[in-house]
Amino acid sequence: MHLKKAQKWVKDDWERHSKERPEEYLQLIYLFEELGEMAEAIRKKHGKKTKKVKIDLEEEMGDVLISLCTVANQYDVDLEKAFLKSKKKIQQRHKKGL
Ligand SMILES: [Mg+2]
Repeated sequence: MHLKKAQKWVKDDWERHSKERPEEYLQLIYLFEELGEMAEAIRKKHGKKTKKVKIDLEEEMGDVLISLCTVANQYDVDLEKAFLKSKKKIQQRHKKGL
């Protein structure tokens, strides 16, 4: 699934299934919560190596992406455009040898 489609899916899903609209700042808090869960999964990955941990990391990264899409939708940010902009910035840095 392309980034634009993923972001649209999150938007549509919110419109269809979310009866409550949390305040905007809470979506950012949720994103940080998901990042914390992802960090915990990575920490665990460096402890015991089990399949369950691998699944958790994948799941947590998915949660982070969905949460980021939600924040982007709230502020009308096109994540695909944002990604391409940042990609260009990095490529220019590489050209300059930075
Ligand atoms: Mg999570």
